[in-house]
Amino acid sequence: MSIPIYTYDAIVVGAGLAGNAAARELQNAGKKVAVITKLHPLRSHSGAAQGGINAAFSDEDSVELHEYDTVKGADYLADQDAVEFMCKNAPETIRWAERMGAAFSRTPDGKIAQRPFGGQSSPRACFAKDRTGLTLLQTIYEQAHRSGVKFWDEWYAADIIYKDGKVSGVIAFNIRDMQMAIFNAKSVMFATGGYARAFKISSNAHANTGDGLSIVARHGLPLEDMEFVQFHPSGLSGNGVLISEAARGEGGRLFNSEGERFMTKSAPNAMELASRDVVARAILNEIREGRGVGPRKDAVYLDVTHLGKDLIMAKLPELRELAITFLGLDMIKEPILISATAHYSMGGIPVNIAGNVRKNNDELVEGFYAAGECSCVSVHGANRLGANSVLEALLFGRFVGKTMVKEIDDIELRVATEEDANKALEEVNWFLSNNGNETIPVLREELQQSMTTNAGAFRTKETLEVVIAKVQELRKRFKNIRIQDKSTVFNTELQEALEFGHMLDYSMFIVESAVAREESRGAHFREDFNTRDDDKFLKHTMAYMDENGELSLDYMDVVLGKHELQDRHY
Ligand SMILES: Cc1cc2nc3c(=O)[nH]c(=O)nc-3n(C[C@H](O)[C@H](O)[C@H](O)COP(=O)(O)OP(=O)(O)OC[C@H]3O[C@@H](n4cnc5c(N)ncnc54)[C@H](O)[C@@H]3O)c2cc1C
Repeated sequence: MSIPIYTYDAIVVGAGLAGNAAARELQNAGKKVAVITKLHPLRSHSGAAQGGINAAFSDEDSVELHEYDTVKGADYLADQDAVEFMCKNAPETIRWAERMGAAFSRTPDGKIAQRPFGGQSSPRACFAKDRTGLTLLQTIYEQAHRSGVKFWDEWYAADIIYKDGKVSGVIAFNIRDMQMAIFNAKSVMFATGGYARAFKISSNAHANTGDGLSIVARHGLPLEDMEFVQFHPSGLSGNGVLISEAARGEGGRLFNSEGERFMTKSAPNAMELASRDVVARAILNEIREGRGVGPRKDAVYLDVTHLGKDLIMAKLPELRELAITFLGLDMIKEPILISATAHYSMGGIPVNIAGNVRKNNDELVEGFYAAGECSCVSVHGANRLGANSVLEALLFGRFVGKTMVKEIDDIELRVATEEDANKALEEVNWFLSNNGNETIPVLREELQQSMTTNAGAFRTKETLEVVIAKVQELRKRFKNIRIQDKSTVFNTELQEALEFGHMLDYSMFIVESAVAREESRGAHFREDFNTRDDDKFLKHTMAYMDENGELSLDYMDVVLGKHELQDRHY
């Protein structure tokens, strides 16, 4: 089979908010750009964002307060130069999105409405009912499409072409017929989104399998701060489907089986609107100490009944639908059952503020960029605040697009040969021909279950080592896989096998980075080291994988700034 070769100025992998925003910038600057995406753009997980997008523009708020809340929420691990950049540019990003056509909810006097979110000093989250992400994604996708960006939807990016410190293209195949193709480009951007699907109880779409991270890591490039996975306080009991923080932002309350509003114990001031790590651990503590509710006693009550039908229907209609669909509970009439769910990944592909991917602490990769949830520019540090990540994806997506425009003419196009696709082709052929006796759903279930049980909101050295052993075992059993479907037409079983391989690799980064961090900070809570240790661990983890899948860890300084280290209380 001969392999077609396409050439563009720039390739963007991923069509969520970050990918679309970058592609539009490139196209409007006259560059020929293609977006490769395994999903139709509008099915990207950005469209699932419910609650809001932060920007400090009300009279009571300020950019400095937004910075302070973000740095404190991050448990001081965020890079303050990146935080400053984001918070400063947030109001303009909202105005830009509005000019593009995004219809935000308004106050009675016509201003953009803002709702309170956890860990924020002021109501700061702009929203479109509880469908903020979908509104933004539709708008930005429409604009990218209109500007002439070429979308290769339902194409799966399998590898990058990376040689001599430079990325010069992408290897991808058409999910429809498995046709492999090479995409040459002067510059490549990854905007492949989050990866909380490594956990059994997760708010993430099934597509959030962290492909981008493992593709990068397999070339020996680092992943940063992978131990920091956010557990959102309110996933529907049993499956983790998200009930946005908007429910608590609008006034929702949490109760245990004794009818006690238990947040009085861990966050007497902020209560249900403390930062997510604090609320998630408080919920899990109630459950662990026997004060859970529901048939399995593994949930707590989220009660919004006092807000009244009108407010719920006006501001939280989607959340109500979700609870009716999955639990049969109508939040207008009764409290619903929730517990913590794996939600967001603070770590990722390390980038500088301009979006250039780091080769190590000191050097950058030429022609390679990343933005959105797959990246780590470190605005979220050890814990992200609600409504800061749609902002990050849109804002950095757009600015990284601008960086690419600026740098692209200085990059020489390197043309690939068919051999560059050999590794990806061999992998696919191996999966189709290997005749073992293991199947993907079984292996994936074991990984996800082990991650949720042992690498969740509470961790110890012992529990994390259970996962390391599990991943090692699963890697061996994965070699003994059998794909039943040998066809080349929409072979989802094959795609799931590739995705599972990615999950295995980046899960190892999560747990190995977590074992080495012998402190508790933000979302990473070690019961055996339950305080923050700034002397030893006020630094970013940089983890590298060798050809044998072994990891080694290094550390990188945190960029400090005007917001000084303090103990965190809410
Ligand atoms: C249920 C839910 C609610 C949320 N609510 C909020 C909120 O209210 N406020 C907030 O700030 N944040 C929220 N978040 C987080 C936020 O939505 C995401 O962090 C953000 O939208 C990520 O955008 P992105 O562009 O980086 O990635 P995504 O939107 O996830 O897009 C990833 C893209 O990568 C593509 N892709 C991945 N792998 C491949 C591959 N191998 N080949 C080709 N394409 C690939 C996919 O097709 C997709 O287009 C929420 C998240 C969830 C899960």
